[in-house]
Amino acid sequence: MATSYTRLIPYVRPHRRTLTLAFLCTLGFVASMPMLAYAIERMAHFVGSGDLAGISWLSGIALVGFVGRGACQYGQDALMAKASLRVVLSLRQHVFRHLQTLDLDYFARSRTGDLSYRLTEDLDRVGEVVHKFFHQTVPDVLVLVAVLSYMLYLNVSLTLATLAIAPLVGLAIGWFGERLLTSSRRSQDRIADLAAQLTESLSGIQTVKAFAAEEYESDRFNRFARLNFQARFQSEHVKSVQYPVVGFLYALSVIAVFWLGGWQIRAGNLSGSEFVGFLAGVALLIDPIVQLTDNVNHIRQTQASLDRVFELLDETPRVRSLPTAKPLPDIRGKVQFDRVSFAYPSGAIALQHVDLQVQPGEAIALVGASGAGKSTLVKLLPRFYDPQDGRILIDGIDIQAVTLPSLRRQIGIVPQETVLFSGTIAQNIAYGRADFELAEVERAAKIANAHEFVSRLPEGYLSVVGERGVNLSGGQRQRIAIARAVMLDPKILILDEATSALDAESEALVQEALERLMQGRTAIAIAHRLATVRNVDRIVVLEKGAIVEVGSHEELLARGGRYADYHAQQFSRW
Ligand code: ADP
Repeated sequence: MATSYTRLIPYVRPHRRTLTLAFLCTLGFVASMPMLAYAIERMAHFVGSGDLAGISWLSGIALVGFVGRGACQYGQDALMAKASLRVVLSLRQHVFRHLQTLDLDYFARSRTGDLSYRLTEDLDRVGEVVHKFFHQTVPDVLVLVAVLSYMLYLNVSLTLATLAIAPLVGLAIGWFGERLLTSSRRSQDRIADLAAQLTESLSGIQTVKAFAAEEYESDRFNRFARLNFQARFQSEHVKSVQYPVVGFLYALSVIAVFWLGGWQIRAGNLSGSEFVGFLAGVALLIDPIVQLTDNVNHIRQTQASLDRVFELLDETPRVRSLPTAKPLPDIRGKVQFDRVSFAYPSGAIALQHVDLQVQPGEAIALVGASGAGKSTLVKLLPRFYDPQDGRILIDGIDIQAVTLPSLRRQIGIVPQETVLFSGTIAQNIAYGRADFELAEVERAAKIANAHEFVSRLPEGYLSVVGERGVNLSGGQRQRIAIARAVMLDPKILILDEATSALDAESEALVQEALERLMQGRTAIAIAHRLATVRNVDRIVVLEKGAIVEVGSHEELLARGGRYADYHAQQFSRW
């Protein structure tokens, strides 16, 4: 279903005053044309009769007129541009804000390059059309109406004869517009594919090189580029057929006017000079008609971009704060999973009837084979997903009854892979806070064993990290993530142990920092290796989405069950 352009009205409405002013300027500018013609005609008269006084007063008036005309032109261009760019600005801000509220699942289904294309190129195209609509389409329609009124005033039957062809022109424009829309949709989708593949190849450039897959990637790129070329060419081709067809229809109407004109002159109902005046009107119609056809085409082509932008806006997050939600008060950190079952939207059942209680300040480790449901279990706590069945309580409060930010701000996450955002180390440690004290950052970094290496960087905490922090080692990045969690000072911690092994020294520093971080907080750790398990109060063993064993390291070893098996295998399988 095509998105209606009327959905842009709420974004245009706030700028109606600027637009009205711009229209007034347009009217002034348009009105200056006949006045100019009249002035030239008068000037010719004065020059012809050698009337110097007349020449000088008219020159004065003309100069003032030109200044006014220039001002109108400036006002029209600048104000229209400002209004349409503001429409793009507010729409873009709205789309980004909305995008961020969407579920993780949406991002799992979407491609980064495609999403960024929607927020950049697609939105720019919509902006261009908005600009064109107010800058060209509306004035063209006004000119058309004015010229037609003048023609009607001159001769009704001749005008109707000219207009007889209008429905045909309308049909032709509509028919071609439909084809243009189809090919533009294809072309926008292909270019978004291209953008998506570009993002993938560039962010995975190491893998591409490691697999010597440059040719393979180029082939993929070339295929999308060719498909885009085909779709683009199809659009252009449609247009190049459309212009002569519309031109031909227009010529038909001109021929009809000649016939009818000749016939009326012969019958004595029309004078030759009246007919010439009428023909001048017909000629004046050409420009606005050509431009309108072009604009309608542009509007149709941009429909594809409009659809892509609003498709994103129509996506509603499943996980959101209920209207009745209240902020989660400061918590002690008790966590309860109460018969929680969860399946991913794609259908895979990931957790079944999970019952688990974690006391404030307690540390537990989740252990189990890959795919057992460890990550899924911790994803439910900050409500990255909501379970289909059962409840999750924090300090006895159902997490679905509280507002999302108040919940998430009290849960710190140290992920497997630390994402560093472009900016300084300090900004990265204080991530999400616009203002912070450097001393605070330093204190957090000390606890996280990061202070030493950060101080050794050329610009210390003000050193800028690359797009993905390429200049920091794995262990250093982990310690930045730990410092981040210290800054947040949450009561509940989720630790996803890094799977990649660190060197012994780094490992010891990270481990020490983690222990400090866990002090006095409830911690749920996903253990991939033995290291984390040593420091926890209880170990929870998961298998196929269900809890199969719970106990301390010694208890579980003594029981000789699943955990003991894993342990015997030296955690080698996971
Ligand atoms: P673990 O962390 O123990 O390795 P996960 O919690 O990641 O296990 O996965 C549990 C199950 O859910 C697996 O069967 C996995 O394939 C599935 N799963 C994980 N993430 C997703 C996802 N985003 N969409 C669909 N299924 C998923």
